[in-house]
Amino acid sequence: MNHTASTPRPAAAPALGHTLLKLIPYAAILAVALVLPFIANDYWVLIATRAAIYWVLVSALNLVVGFAGQLAIGWVALLTLGAYTTSVLTAGTVLPPMPLLVAFAAAAVVGALAGLLVGLPALRLRTFYFAMTTLGFATITTQIALAWQDVTGGGIGIPGPWLPSPFDNALGFYLLCLGLAAVLTWMTANVARSRFGRGLVAIRDAEVAAEVSGISKPALLVAVFLFSGAAAGVAGGLFATLQSYISPEAFTFDLSVLFFIAILIGGRGSILGPLIATIVLTWLPEFAAPLVVWSTFLYALLLLVIVLAVPGGIAAMLDFGSRRPLARDRAVVPREELLGALFTERPASSAIVLKDVVLSFGAVRAIDGLDLTIDPGEVHGLIGPNGSGKTTTLNVICGFYKPDTGTVRVGDDVLKPGEPQHRAEVGIARTFQTPRLIGESTVLENVMVGGDTSGRATFAEALLNLPRNHADEVMLRERADLALRIVGLEALAGVRADRLQHSELRFMEIARALMLQPRFLLLDEPAAGLSGDEIARLGSLIESVSRHGVGVLLVEHHADLIFKICHHVTVLDLGRVLADGTPDEVRTHEDVVSAYLGG
Ligand code: ADP
Ligand code: MG
Repeated sequence: MNHTASTPRPAAAPALGHTLLKLIPYAAILAVALVLPFIANDYWVLIATRAAIYWVLVSALNLVVGFAGQLAIGWVALLTLGAYTTSVLTAGTVLPPMPLLVAFAAAAVVGALAGLLVGLPALRLRTFYFAMTTLGFATITTQIALAWQDVTGGGIGIPGPWLPSPFDNALGFYLLCLGLAAVLTWMTANVARSRFGRGLVAIRDAEVAAEVSGISKPALLVAVFLFSGAAAGVAGGLFATLQSYISPEAFTFDLSVLFFIAILIGGRGSILGPLIATIVLTWLPEFAAPLVVWSTFLYALLLLVIVLAVPGGIAAMLDFGSRRPLARDRAVVPREELLGALFTERPASSAIVLKDVVLSFGAVRAIDGLDLTIDPGEVHGLIGPNGSGKTTTLNVICGFYKPDTGTVRVGDDVLKPGEPQHRAEVGIARTFQTPRLIGESTVLENVMVGGDTSGRATFAEALLNLPRNHADEVMLRERADLALRIVGLEALAGVRADRLQHSELRFMEIARALMLQPRFLLLDEPAAGLSGDEIARLGSLIESVSRHGVGVLLVEHHADLIFKICHHVTVLDLGRVLADGTPDEVRTHEDVVSAYLGG
């Protein structure tokens, strides 16, 4: 299933000029940071050092909060752990004193494990409960630091680590922190641009679409929690060095708020925004020294103003591209002749078979003993009045619902209920009755999410943008480009998905489903909200897809479309099969005519 589609013409590579343009703000910030020690006094260098250390933590936390949308408020706990780990190990209060590099590596490991520990509840808990657990963890960490006097020095504290030359002076240390901050920026930018970054945003904004694309939320979250924890641990070591003496008071709740709010003010899913916000928030209390006691209040006020005035934060303010008007009178014209380039192999020929499926929601029997066979290479229509169980049938096939009894098979394999993220491996793709868009991502990115299971690189390879990750990106981009041309949306590839019209979103979802090079395509009312012309074009696209060997299940209300393109039609009523057969048989079926077609 993972063959790379050869395209009739090369995918449009992102213009080099465009990429360079995006680098300008980062280069400018780095340039100012490098010049700073030579034009400003030590005090400014100190603030800049602090901002760099904070950014080491915030940049990685950004993947958790800004990308994955997890409300990790108490991340200061990991800074605390890193600070104490390095200080205790270098001071030798417990074990013999260790070399600095070992101490920092240990801080990274402790941070990663703690990040995982704090993060695990996110796999089960809803957002606010998760936020509370991170806060609880922060409180516990501080309490342990206070109580465990033999090791941590309790309320009196212990000295931070001493760095050797050339990092033992303010300038050397600053440049070290700056270098690490730059490396972390590069790493998180690599992740953001990879399938992992798109997957995180997909989990945040369209979790079910992510799941049917084969994205595993637990695996992805574990990876970012480990990474984010490790970065926070290292930041803790640097923080302890900067402070030169640490006690539990140094790790205030304000600090945790700063980390979190920097990401919100910066803008979800952005790197530049949170970077600018981190610099501003580090600098602001210094600038307004008399207002220091008000800093929490100032942060809150700033957050409120930004959230009200520019919900997307700094990143949205800087996103000039999304304010350019789009062409009106856009028509989606699919090019099904390109499907041959996508389906280079004819899919294997076994059917999806539902046998005696029953599913109740309380007293409602949504599906009541359903038998259904979706043959490869055919369009199978599934019709019936609202509430007759069509969408529920799709959800059973996709593993979102566990049937009370009955099985879903593909060939000899029984599809396990309740594992939607494994359906993509079987080659089952679907669209949704309400399009599941990742609004803040581009149309191209939305579509690329659908090809996630073809990616080979690991998270670590994505962090460093190693060749396999690069190859994944080229392959996915090329295939997405092809899928967009097939559905006729290539002109909108770079546009944010939330700017699309409803009908365009329907075609975008089909393109995302095609990314899987699926064996089966389940469409839930794809013609709803489309014009007559668009429905006709959609119909011939679906027919073409089935001619490439794909088994299509088409849920629709437009009877014309159903009877025109389906090979087989099943009529549901109250979760039961009312009629089943060829379009002609169904059209003339007595019960159908009286009960459903109203004639
Ligand atoms: P259709 O797609 O044919 O319009 P559905 O499959 O969405 O119908 O719904 C079938 C029946 O199951 C309806 O009575 C609906 O209210 C019920 N139902 C669907 N999903 C749920 C759910 N998650 N919880 C409770 N009832 C549900
Ligand atoms: Mg429905």
